Amino acid sequence: MVCFSQSTLNSLNSISPNKTDYAGIYIHLPFCVHKCPYCDFYSATDLSLKQPFIRALMKEMAMSCDIPFPFDTIYIGGGTPSVFSARHIGQLIETAYSLFKILPDAEITIEVNPGTVDLDRLKEYKHTGVNRINIGVQSFQDKNLNFLGRIHSARDAIFAVEWARNAGFDNIGLDLIYGIPNQTKKSWLMDLKKTVELAPEHLSCYTLTYESGTAMNNDRQKGLFCPLPEHLVADLFELTIESLIDYGYMQYEISNFARSDSSKPGLSKPELNKSRHNRKYWSFAPYIGFGPSSHSFIEPYRYWNCSDVQKYIRDIDAGRLPIEKKELLNREQQIIEAIYLGLRQTDGIQIDIFDEKFGVNFKKIFKKIIMDLEKNGLLRLDQNLCALSRKGMLFHDAIVEMLICRKI
Ligand code: SF4
Repeated sequence: MVCFSQSTLNSLNSISPNKTDYAGIYIHLPFCVHKCPYCDFYSATDLSLKQPFIRALMKEMAMSCDIPFPFDTIYIGGGTPSVFSARHIGQLIETAYSLFKILPDAEITIEVNPGTVDLDRLKEYKHTGVNRINIGVQSFQDKNLNFLGRIHSARDAIFAVEWARNAGFDNIGLDLIYGIPNQTKKSWLMDLKKTVELAPEHLSCYTLTYESGTAMNNDRQKGLFCPLPEHLVADLFELTIESLIDYGYMQYEISNFARSDSSKPGLSKPELNKSRHNRKYWSFAPYIGFGPSSHSFIEPYRYWNCSDVQKYIRDIDAGRLPIEKKELLNREQQIIEAIYLGLRQTDGIQIDIFDEKFGVNFKKIFKKIIMDLEKNGLLRLDQNLCALSRKGMLFHDAIVEMLICRKI
């Protein structure tokens, strides 16, 4: 079943992926037991739609089987994928393997919420071929979890990590949130200490943000609580990096850290523990999304599905891909993305690649801005790399804005 237009397919086929261009599959399972008040991801709480949804999802994958890339990651995210049984997760993985060319050593991740798993379920996930687990812990303190409206306790979070290890997962990632109202350095350090005691291979530490339209943002606007002042959030950001480096983690992206030691042979250790899938988002590698609200990127195209599970099922049943919008990124948009995403990573922007791709001289164009930023300790430039300093990362968005204002 050919679902892309012939011109799109021709342009996809003209891109011959090199070794670093293996594509990723993202599968969005948009169901949650309860909506967390800070969350602006698309998810529904009517779990009765799970069964027809899984059927539609497998059909959507079959409708897209003409994609010409080999894949080396599958990421099952949400929502809360762990509200689905291992039977459903196994069906999705089998369907992906039967339709697409997926490397035998593919990284296959599932996100889980500690309030929805037990040891048996995690063992069953392991048997489906999932080899990486990402646990939405957010905090190891009940008062923070209550404020965030999470369905689990700190004790559930600790059990979830221990069960994941006992189930045989040797690649575990934890998500944490800081910048919570009234949070102190001492209290955040307690969370970080508990985290490293559990020795996850990977950590994502996000600042609490107040996204428009969320219940938490509405409460903030009504003055029902006082957000942590920005300078204190900045202190916690610096503390996160300093502490995690001391604890043996390497920062490789503004919010992401990989454990530096590992008992596994092969790649250098932090390299092995980085999220292979998430790095695709930052490095322009192709990825295909399935499920409501999922995004896909095949340079220079970006497209995304509708954010409505009922419409999604209706579209699929009618034989239509549920694509809401498709964009062709022009040169200017690609440059903005390259700067924005490059500066999120500690490796920064690789200047020779940037110059070749866009036919420019990066150092010459940005000479004045770069000199100013360097003088203020916000950016470092060497022969072939341009990256933000730790202090510069605090001002990532503003620095990107300064660079992209310069017409290329
Ligand atoms: S469990 Fe995750 S996806 Fe679901 S509402 Fe909470 S933060 Fe959002």
